[in-house]
Amino acid sequence: MKNNIIFTTIAVVFSSVLLVIITNLIIVSYYNEKAAKEDLMEYLSMTELLYHGDNDLEVSQSLHTLNVDIRLTIIDLTGEVLFDSSEETGFDSHLGRPEIETLGTIYKRYSNTLKQDMIYVASRDDGHYVRIALPVSSINHITNTFIMYGVLSFSIISLLSFVAVDLLIRKALFPLHRVVAKMQEITHEATLPAGDDVDAISMQIDDINKNILQKIEMIGEEKDKLNFILDNINQGIIVLDYQANVVLINQFALDLFEVKRPQVLNKHFIYGIRQLDIQEKIQSSLLNKNIYAFDYTEKGHIYYMNIAPLVNKWVSKDESHPGAVFMVLEVTERRQIELMKKEFFANASHELKSPLTTIIGYQQMLAEGILKEPKEVEDAIRRTLKEANRMHQIVNDMLELSHLEGKPKEKNELIDASLLISEALDHFKLAINEKHLIIETHLSPLPLWIHRNHLVGLFHNLLDNAIKYNKEGGSIILTTTVCSFTIQDTGIGIPKEDQSRVFERFYRVDKGRSQETGGTGLGLAIVKHICSLYEATIKLRSQLNQGTTIQITFSTTSIGDKNKILQ
Ligand code: ADP
Repeated sequence: MKNNIIFTTIAVVFSSVLLVIITNLIIVSYYNEKAAKEDLMEYLSMTELLYHGDNDLEVSQSLHTLNVDIRLTIIDLTGEVLFDSSEETGFDSHLGRPEIETLGTIYKRYSNTLKQDMIYVASRDDGHYVRIALPVSSINHITNTFIMYGVLSFSIISLLSFVAVDLLIRKALFPLHRVVAKMQEITHEATLPAGDDVDAISMQIDDINKNILQKIEMIGEEKDKLNFILDNINQGIIVLDYQANVVLINQFALDLFEVKRPQVLNKHFIYGIRQLDIQEKIQSSLLNKNIYAFDYTEKGHIYYMNIAPLVNKWVSKDESHPGAVFMVLEVTERRQIELMKKEFFANASHELKSPLTTIIGYQQMLAEGILKEPKEVEDAIRRTLKEANRMHQIVNDMLELSHLEGKPKEKNELIDASLLISEALDHFKLAINEKHLIIETHLSPLPLWIHRNHLVGLFHNLLDNAIKYNKEGGSIILTTTVCSFTIQDTGIGIPKEDQSRVFERFYRVDKGRSQETGGTGLGLAIVKHICSLYEATIKLRSQLNQGTTIQITFSTTSIGDKNKILQ
């Protein structure tokens, strides 16, 4: 390409210079010839004046002083050459020469005598023809000199223009080379140096351009990925610059503060965060570099919020003017668990405290000899034992619950749950008989993939309650289907307002009655945990003084093949 430019430029310069030279040459030749012809006519006039019949040599010499190339010929009227300054001899008759035939007219023709082109003109006096001639070469002398200098200047101009064009192109391409080098620096793309070839540079720029476009596309994809991740994490993120403008906000934060991205992005954070207490903390973090970590409750959800100053080149001006990062995490469940644990420990301590107080009281009275009568001593020992058993039962249930909470991965076996119901009834035979309860069973196979202890725990707790809270002479109906177990009693029932809470730990409708019957308040909590382990659902229906029905429906994942059990 560079060579093309040089050759084109030089061709234009060549043609222009050549055109000027040729035009000048034509003009110079024309005027040169015209001047020569005028000179020739003047020489002829002079000769006519000077020549008077016999002084031909004299005239010839005089003419020679004016122009060395001048040729004088004297011809008589018969055409014979009487004198010729060329000193040639043996001339033929000159009457037929055109300049003799048409006197006073200049002719250009080849001279056989001098073997060169000449211009001739002739005139006649009384007895002679006088002819003057000049060689064409003498006329062309100036023209030839002009051509010589023309060629020389043409060559010099060409050489100079070549050098100038080359220099100009180099100078013109220099910034382009710098641009290419910079672009290569940006794209980290190393290509071979293109030299001064504009085509190669252009191809390089094309390559770099493609590379930049690819990189832009890649950056766009990366940005999309990052935005996708940011918008789909279960955590809110807001980044503010040192002027308190929102430079980044993800979907979680947008949803929490109920704003749309365009409403807040690149705007002061107060357009998005309207809560005054949070606003104050953000301001303080930006101005005083304070870090805040706190819980915030909004519409029944608890959020853990963390506001911290952020020194980063794209958000802060300098170390003393930081931006801020605001993180939000939903902790409702975690806080509820924490609360439940706190309540559990308080309840557990309380539950254990009362039997322990009774035991200590009796033991002290026995130790101090306050109870002396054998009946009193026996009574004290029996009460102490009962409270100790209660404590034992509470501790056992607590251990069971904590074990279930750990979601134990125990090996399940395929059990026909209906068979275990008979065993459970055997276990509670004494209590059933004591209360004269009527037991009715409608048992069909219930094949479950379950851990035996869990199934036993489930039936024992439910049957225990159906007996404990039943009326004297009441009844209990136990039913199994291929996917469910139902226990129905005719007991005291559970008031409507307590029905949703009886599965909570240590929750009792009538604390006194429960304690009297040896309840720990953990039985239904254990049932609920076992059910959640096997994704079983619990349905409770109860009517005060009428009775209670609890139905447990197992999920398909826990139900096994009935035929495999029957075989
Ligand atoms: P407890 O050990 O006190 O029986 P549970 O967790 O088994 O604890 O039951 C919680 C409370 O629910 C009981 O204290 C009782 O008030 C009530 N309850 C449970 N089952 C029945 C039932 N079948 N009939 C009436 N009340 C019941």
